[in-house]
Amino acid sequence: MPDRTPSAEDDPPATDGRQVLVVGDGLVGLSAAAFLSRRGLDPTVVAGPADRPAGQEAVERCVVLWPSAVALLAEIGVIAEVAPASVEIGTWLVSSREGTVLDRLETAHGGSDDHPFLAVDRRRLGRVLRDRLRTNSVRVTKRPRRLRSDGGFPEVEFEDGVSERFDLVVGADGSDSWVRAAGFPTPNPGHRGTTTWSFRADGAGEPGTVGEAWGADAMVALVPTASGTCGRLVTTTDEAVAAAEALARFERDGHPVTRALDPPGPDGLVGSVDRVVRPDAWVSGRLALVGDAARSLPPCSLALSLAVEDTHVLAEELAATGCPAALERYEHRRRGRLQRLDRRLSADGTGRHPLTAAGFPDLLELRLALLRSSFARRPSPSGVSSTERR
Ligand SMILES: Cc1cc2nc3c(=O)[nH]c(=O)nc-3n(C[C@H](O)[C@H](O)[C@H](O)COP(=O)(O)OP(=O)(O)OC[C@H]3O[C@@H](n4cnc5c(N)ncnc54)[C@H](O)[C@@H]3O)c2cc1C
Repeated sequence: MPDRTPSAEDDPPATDGRQVLVVGDGLVGLSAAAFLSRRGLDPTVVAGPADRPAGQEAVERCVVLWPSAVALLAEIGVIAEVAPASVEIGTWLVSSREGTVLDRLETAHGGSDDHPFLAVDRRRLGRVLRDRLRTNSVRVTKRPRRLRSDGGFPEVEFEDGVSERFDLVVGADGSDSWVRAAGFPTPNPGHRGTTTWSFRADGAGEPGTVGEAWGADAMVALVPTASGTCGRLVTTTDEAVAAAEALARFERDGHPVTRALDPPGPDGLVGSVDRVVRPDAWVSGRLALVGDAARSLPPCSLALSLAVEDTHVLAEELAATGCPAALERYEHRRRGRLQRLDRRLSADGTGRHPLTAAGFPDLLELRLALLRSSFARRPSPSGVSSTERR
């Protein structure tokens, strides 16, 4: 896989003096900071509260990066460092719960400037992104408390009472974003109606293949990683007992997933309720939103990759010109894609929320269309797309 090993020449360029605060040290905040740093800005990242449910980190071990995000992260040397703990995804197999194959999509990865789908260890990706930042760029002890912006230079008061002025504040603080609540006139996010559960399913699944099985009211996916198999389950219930029962129905239909669930039953599932985040704007004066703070998507394993693209564009625009013009260009370039997706979601019914079991077939159709279009865009060595060749 093409990547550049960072060298001394690759050290972040001298900073241009602008003070950027990135609120949120998730993968999107760290990606934003890494791209900004590479472009000569000097971001400070503030970390959030360590309030994740017990065991969440252990089960949410992996994330699938799509080729577009892999290409951008390769530019800053990240992929070379996460590769030893990553697995290239060669096949995406979509079946019904009973095992009927609905589609089998093969990646045509192999060209020298081509990038694969990659199942990456989340923690390692976070660590490698963090290593791209200057020492002491990530503040873990001081959280922001108050934000004053009024369209001018944002002033942030931290928990210790100290206030600082910034040229730009980037809200990368997830779906319940504090920056969004403090700086944007926007309603709180609603519930999508689905819950995405993570579980360990070591020993299940096929190497190099993401396998998805779709039932009438639940979907289960197995993602291979270098350290075992990540399981995901999407349900319309947010109760672990009911979700474990939904998983057991897959087993009864011949899908071997629950035998691998570790620990067995509801204790093996860690759930995250899916939200509908649709702020009216991503930019307000010198404030910008990225990642889950800016948008949520139906469960489809694409949100992080799109957000990596967003943060790359944000850094590119900021390197070229000052805020707020750069921020307006960022929003203009990136928000249109979401609006197109939203139009499609409302056209096929998947945009209805809360989504109920009745909406599951629409979700499957959306998923298949998304996968087919992503795989079709990837030319095979013979110039024929993998989906056309089937
Ligand atoms: C089970 C599951 C599997 C997924 N799989 C994939 C996948 O395979 N591919 C994909 O592309 N996407 C996937 N997604 C979606 C993807 O994980 C998210 O879109 C992405 O991680 C969002 O990153 P983020 O940094 O924007 O938000 P978060 O990961 O929520 O990070 C926000 C950060 O901000 C911090 N924070 C919050 N409040 C404050 C505050 N006041 N001050 C400072 N910091 C704060 C939090 O502590 C956190 O660290 C998956 C999601 C789930 C639930």
